[in-house]
Amino acid sequence: MIDLSDVPVVDNHVHPWRESSKHLSAEALAESVSFVDAVVTSVREPFLPAEQLEAPLRLYRETSLSVRALLVDLARFLGCEERWEAVAAARNRAAEADYRGWAQRLFEDARIDALLVDEGGSRPRVTLEQLGQIAPARLRRVARTDNFVRDLLEQEESWPRFFQRYQEELDAAIADGAIAFKSVIAYRTGLNVEPISEDEARRNFEVSRGGPISAQKPLRDFLLCHAMDVARERGLWVHIHAATGDPDIVFQRANPGQLYPLLHSERFRANRVVLIHGGWPWVSEAAVMVAMLPNLYLDVSEGAIFGLANLRQRILEVLESAPYTKILYAADASLPEALWLVAKRYKRALGQVLGELAADGFFSPREAYAAGRAILHDNAARMYGL
Ligand SMILES: [Zn+2]
Repeated sequence: MIDLSDVPVVDNHVHPWRESSKHLSAEALAESVSFVDAVVTSVREPFLPAEQLEAPLRLYRETSLSVRALLVDLARFLGCEERWEAVAAARNRAAEADYRGWAQRLFEDARIDALLVDEGGSRPRVTLEQLGQIAPARLRRVARTDNFVRDLLEQEESWPRFFQRYQEELDAAIADGAIAFKSVIAYRTGLNVEPISEDEARRNFEVSRGGPISAQKPLRDFLLCHAMDVARERGLWVHIHAATGDPDIVFQRANPGQLYPLLHSERFRANRVVLIHGGWPWVSEAAVMVAMLPNLYLDVSEGAIFGLANLRQRILEVLESAPYTKILYAADASLPEALWLVAKRYKRALGQVLGELAADGFFSPREAYAAGRAILHDNAARMYGL
């Protein structure tokens, strides 16, 4: 076992939380690491009426291994009984007294140093300045281009005006210090993105502007390709959601392999791209693409938070093909407790795997420690200049 507990952590993919979360019900605290709760909380259209979802969600929460891990680890950290009511009460006491101070206790324990913040889809957007009031870490903005599309489709009726304002939004995000553009096109029209002419995008804009998102594929493909051109020219990274996710994902076109033709194309092969969520559950496919394409990197989130029980196998699956210099630790959490839980458990699992590989003669224990440090911190520091 390689001890990685002292390694500072850069989390490559988190979402902002609000000050109001300093008080949470036991259910809401458990939900922060519960995959299926996203059915209710983060889809754009309700999946089923809330009363029909209550029983299956409770069953999931009570039996999810990630939720169980949060209960056990938080109870130990807070020195209280292993019951959700006791844990939530102790947590709320600490958080309500001083939310930033409570987060600091957690972040110091896991050595969380910097967060790349994907602003998510909530309106109004939580700014880094607002998050900085309660998050004791270095913060960097990842700007969601899908939000620009969503907002501008509501506001603009003419193509020239729409496209001009889209470009202005990209420029404004860069001026605001964003280090990457994020795309969740896997939730909109799928990862089989194709370069489209502006004429075709305009025609699609005119007929599909007020219609269902599924009819906007040419438009959305064109806009993502344009954002990737800007990113390449201006030195930004592109973060692409490439994995399963909330239930409104285009599941059949969410496998990272769908992106291969685009990322391999002459136009985009020089783009620096990170596959956010490491293809989970298609992790081997994502890792092998990262090995094949020189400017492609892998983020391990989503599988990390929702697949806590299987971290070791996932780490090995990634290391079997991708060099460890192209792998980035991330949790995909949006609450300090969830960030802490995943960082602590990931460090332990990674230390176990690297220790076993060192014992098998793949590297010395010193090099194994360096590999762990690269995944948790050094790769991100190098890539983003942190
Ligand atoms: Zn996310």
